[in-house]
Amino acid sequence: MEDKQNLLDLTRSDLNDFFANLGEKPYCTKQLMQWVYHQHQFDFDQMLNLSKKLREKLNAIATLELPKISQQNFSLDGVIKWAIDLGNENHIETVYIPEKDRGTLCISSQVGCALACTFCSTGMQGFNRNLSTTEIIAQVVIAQQYLSDKGKRISNVVFMGMGEPLLNEKAVYKACDLLLDDWAFGLSRRKVTISTSGVVPALYRMADITPVSLAISLHAPDDVLRDELVPINQKYPIQELLSACQNYLDSGTQERHILFEYVMLSGVNDSIEQAEKLAKLLKGISAKVNLIPFNPFPETQYKISKKATIEAFQDVLFNHGIRAMTRRTRGEDVDAACGQLAGKVVDKTGRTQS
Ligand code: SAH
Ligand code: SF4
Repeated sequence: MEDKQNLLDLTRSDLNDFFANLGEKPYCTKQLMQWVYHQHQFDFDQMLNLSKKLREKLNAIATLELPKISQQNFSLDGVIKWAIDLGNENHIETVYIPEKDRGTLCISSQVGCALACTFCSTGMQGFNRNLSTTEIIAQVVIAQQYLSDKGKRISNVVFMGMGEPLLNEKAVYKACDLLLDDWAFGLSRRKVTISTSGVVPALYRMADITPVSLAISLHAPDDVLRDELVPINQKYPIQELLSACQNYLDSGTQERHILFEYVMLSGVNDSIEQAEKLAKLLKGISAKVNLIPFNPFPETQYKISKKATIEAFQDVLFNHGIRAMTRRTRGEDVDAACGQLAGKVVDKTGRTQS
């Protein structure tokens, strides 16, 4: 028997095709999406405005199955981390970060990551596979279901969990489509962010395909250091990356900005000279810089930069007219901070066996 179609994998336009193939009217798409994304109803039998015949048909050929939550952790500062079981001993992690005026959900796009940035716990773990649209969207559905019962909501979604979203383009773009769709999550394009370490060809495609916001994990002001910290830089060096960034800024119908992320590693990339170099590099680009205090994990050699060093670095950027802020570390007590996510991964790269 053929596998059933999981309808969480389908965007509005995919669902229109799906229902058209069944000989059904286009309004079934709206009815189904509202049941799922607004009412959190996953049982076709309870979708009473669909005809009985259609409900029977859906039960026979389709599902709305979510992966299982294997663990839920609550940090003292309000951060919640979900570990989600994808079967075959692969797990991913999703993190909710509440702030005064917003609630950000940090989602994963892959099981592990193949890019092996040296300061990243996910990168050290190796890689297993890409997530499907269902598995990406399920993270938002699971968090939303839990939070709405508590009167909380998700205002922002960032692809800053496990994995490199621009190495899983198709599923990520479809997920973005659903995140922006009023019949699903209805977020504005400014509240959904793809964070990438710089997969340049994909960045050109992304600029045309989806209107969501962009964050670039830069972490070094020159190629020698970036080659070491973010190995994909050996393939796509800084100037190529910045040209792709400029293309992103020039594309699209609405005004765009870029957030550059820079993890502060003591004695590695946090000197005043490096801040000057960074300011020069970003001159003229519509950018904001987010300095991220390094979040340590057991196997790492790197150390956290001192608070005064981060402040001095930030001052240099300010003096050059570059907007910069320092990210407050959240959720450390449950290993939910940036770069600490490390759901169990069955590594296929061999990296973890060495
Ligand atoms: N692969 C994508 C998105 C996931 S990583 C990317 O690299 O952008 C999300 C962010 O966390 C990136 O900016 C990444 O560089 C940062 N990060 C990774 N490890 C970290 C660590 N140990 N401490 C602080 N930030 C880290
Ligand atoms: Fe992958 Fe991003 Fe971690 Fe680099 S920082 S290893 S790209 S998840």
